[in-house]
Amino acid sequence: MRLDRFLSNFPEFNRLDARLLLAAGRVRVDGERVTDGRCDIREFQRVELDQRVLQAGKPARYIMLYKPSGHVSATEHPDHPTVLDLLDEPDKHELHLGGRLDLTTTGLLLITNDGQWSRRLTLPGSKQPKVYLVETADPIGGEYVETFARGLYFAFEDLTTLPAQLEILDTRKARLTLHEGRYHQVKRMFGHFRNRVTSLHRESIGPLELDPWMQPGDYRSLTEAEVACF
Ligand code: URA
Repeated sequence: MRLDRFLSNFPEFNRLDARLLLAAGRVRVDGERVTDGRCDIREFQRVELDQRVLQAGKPARYIMLYKPSGHVSATEHPDHPTVLDLLDEPDKHELHLGGRLDLTTTGLLLITNDGQWSRRLTLPGSKQPKVYLVETADPIGGEYVETFARGLYFAFEDLTTLPAQLEILDTRKARLTLHEGRYHQVKRMFGHFRNRVTSLHRESIGPLELDPWMQPGDYRSLTEAEVACF
């Protein structure tokens, strides 16, 4: 919300008061004097008028979780434990997921209370590469590489998938890099060849890799530099 709007939402200030307070240099955002009412204010920022705290600013939270199989990527679910159940954190109800993995898929999942950040992460146009380790029931053919690179037509969405890179690691094991996130995308791509995915693990999203020391269910906060990647 714009700072001038934020101020005039207080019952004691109208829009003119807000302009005058700003012009007089009486408003601070995160400790810095701000005079431009067009400045965008977020719930994570501290806003002060002289010595009075108008908004304390709640901490923004960004978490990397190693999702285990069997936990659903949701904040609540009637039948399965959710990924939030794995977190020993206060105010969990304020958190949401920056993307999803299927129930049996393991690996990197991001959790936050910052809606702008998670939107940047999950917007179809964000094109952050997502890297998956895939194991399949049947051998992976060399022709998959070319087919995935060309893109596959998904009739349900009436779209062709963006070029994806497949690196075959073993007879039934490959690393797949996607630049979008369609529903069950990896399974559907292998399904094109009637090859069932038996194990799926997300290694990275953009420049962010799951820590190698992590075990399923482990989590940690992201560093400032990691948050700034998205
Ligand atoms: N593609 C899938 O099919 N499942 C996932 O969990 C992620 C990508």
